[in-house]
Amino acid sequence: MLQNIRVVLVNTSHPGNIGAAARAMKNMGLMRLVLVDPVDFPSEEASARASGADDILASALVVSSLEEALAGCELVLGTSARERHIPWPLLDPRESGASVVERAVQGAQVALVFGREYAGLTNDELQRCHFHVHIPSDPQFSSLNLAAAVQVLTYEVRMAWLATQGQPTKMTRQEVGEEPDEQVATADELEMFYGHLERTLVDIGFLDPERPRHLMPRLRRLYGRSAISKLEMNILRGILTETQATARGLPHKWRKDDV
Ligand code: SAH
Repeated sequence: MLQNIRVVLVNTSHPGNIGAAARAMKNMGLMRLVLVDPVDFPSEEASARASGADDILASALVVSSLEEALAGCELVLGTSARERHIPWPLLDPRESGASVVERAVQGAQVALVFGREYAGLTNDELQRCHFHVHIPSDPQFSSLNLAAAVQVLTYEVRMAWLATQGQPTKMTRQEVGEEPDEQVATADELEMFYGHLERTLVDIGFLDPERPRHLMPRLRRLYGRSAISKLEMNILRGILTETQATARGLPHKWRKDDV
């Protein structure tokens, strides 16, 4: 499906931008790059900036006209850094991701077209596109770096594609590298903690056992919202133990010279 989507870069001046665009594409799972009349390609700078996405550069199709680049395409989106004079059907990047994926899933060839660093796409080139896409940047400084614009659009394609696959868009706990011992504290551990907390609050004179008001239920509600882990529970228990020791005038565990 993703192979039905091509990224077309028109008349790019800087080979570094071609490399960076290839990297952006590969990060988002896209592989088909078409270069219309690039000023300097192939180039070492492009490969350097691709950093690992050389395969995208190696398989890039180099053509001399936009017409050739768009051969067979049923949906063509043209990106533009500014509003043009002729009103044209517009999509925002999120809508673009959705339509690109919708059409590509149906088997259609789809193209995302990006313009020159200094002049963007010509009116003639933009008129070959079914829709125009503008990344809603600050109007005072609206033009993104070419590869950055490729990244935004391909990211939206990926998000839309992941949604159609029913795949998660968040890393799983293991991918984040969460420790296995980061399990949540159990109800009985919480009860022991609340007991310890209550005794400590009495020790330091914060809680009057004769007039407890609603302090403990409120604290239970507060901690209950936090999904405290076993590790965090140990930290809290440690703090309470040291608070009690300090309240009793016992020496600090580690600041020995303080006594
Ligand atoms: N001076 C040019 C800027 C081109 S930036 C102009 O005014 O058109 C190079 C390319 O990056 C653009 O042709 C477009 O493909 C893409 N791009 C940059 N900023 C963009 C934005 N805000 N929205 C959509 N595409 C953008």
